[in-house]
Amino acid sequence: MPELLFPLDSAKRFTDQEKVGHNRWHPDIPPVATVRPGQSFRVHCREWFDGAIHNDDSAEDIRDAPLTRVHALSGPFAVEGAEPGDLLMVDILDMGPIPQESGPLAGQGWGYTGIFPTGNGGGFLTEQFPDAYKAVWDFTGRKATSRHIPGVSFTGISHPGLMGTAPSASLLATWNRREGALIATAPDRVPPLALPPEPQDAILGGLAGADFDRVAAEAARTAPPRENGGNQDIKNFTVGSRVFYPVYLPGANLSVGDLHFSQGDGEITFCGAIEMGGFVDLHVDLIKNGMQTYGVAENAIFIPGDTPPQFSQWLAFSGISVTLDGEQRYLDSQLAYQRACLHAIDYLTRFGYQPEQAYLLLGAAPIEGRLSGVVDIPNSCATVYLPTEIFDFDIRPSAAGPARIDPGNGAPKATMR
Ligand code: ZN
Repeated sequence: MPELLFPLDSAKRFTDQEKVGHNRWHPDIPPVATVRPGQSFRVHCREWFDGAIHNDDSAEDIRDAPLTRVHALSGPFAVEGAEPGDLLMVDILDMGPIPQESGPLAGQGWGYTGIFPTGNGGGFLTEQFPDAYKAVWDFTGRKATSRHIPGVSFTGISHPGLMGTAPSASLLATWNRREGALIATAPDRVPPLALPPEPQDAILGGLAGADFDRVAAEAARTAPPRENGGNQDIKNFTVGSRVFYPVYLPGANLSVGDLHFSQGDGEITFCGAIEMGGFVDLHVDLIKNGMQTYGVAENAIFIPGDTPPQFSQWLAFSGISVTLDGEQRYLDSQLAYQRACLHAIDYLTRFGYQPEQAYLLLGAAPIEGRLSGVVDIPNSCATVYLPTEIFDFDIRPSAAGPARIDPGNGAPKATMR
């Protein structure tokens, strides 16, 4: 086992640990450890809400989830010799949930998926699904099943949802400027267009006093992916992946968190993955001046992992860029993917699922989403592929009609506040 550089004690909150991580991006958050190029190391990660979501049959914790506290990130790790302009090469050697059968924290034998309500984050289909729902998933080895979504089981396509290097001061200023300009176009929108710096609940590693206050007021939120990688939520970022991050400041300051046991393309319910805490083993190396050599300055590139699950049989649903009200839009691929997902959800209800169960399943299971056509005016065509093997019953259309499953008690819903 590689040396454990960032331990977490399950009995303590993220801020009470031996080493304190962070939940904002800023160049002045001090590293928790320094590693050498060529070194492998183990990191513990808390699930993104640091224990606010429980293994129970209520969705009130999703409804009230404290979004100012996310994401609980482990790090930063400084890399010896890293300079601006280099590429930081990171291999994901291994990862998984915390090896315990049961316990209070996500990752200890279980994880969760939430539909976030429109007033607290929303999601890809928030117009159709404005309320809070939750599904708890149980892990048996590498398989996930849920008492809230009967009839399916699948091998997790496990990956870190979030990893990246720290921004330089000028890159951070660019983020705040461009995202602030977007927010200014509709400052009262629900859900918001973007999230400005938010000192409330900021965790900034070892910073204290005036430094803490200054950094808390400037530091970027961790929700969006940006040039440094960040919250990319790429389901194929599995064990075996090698990623190349731009280095923006001396030491690079790598951070990681938001581990997902599984996720579908798009992570559509917002917290659509199966969220968990766990461990990740990383190996780092440098390509000196790699940003210029390879033209990798504006976004990370990566070699996807080659680990399972891999499926051969699919049922695919397509959508085009026409709204539910029949309005024609011009090559709107976001809308086309929404329509493909709504199509799949409606189809699964014919077998007895609640629409919310189907929506949660599309967020969490290893479904594939594709931009199939983007040039055939006026309609984009997006497709979503469901692996047929994850269902206990045959989901393909046939002359006999759909098998009816027992949806159980369904996914728990929170009452509106
Ligand atoms: Zn996540």
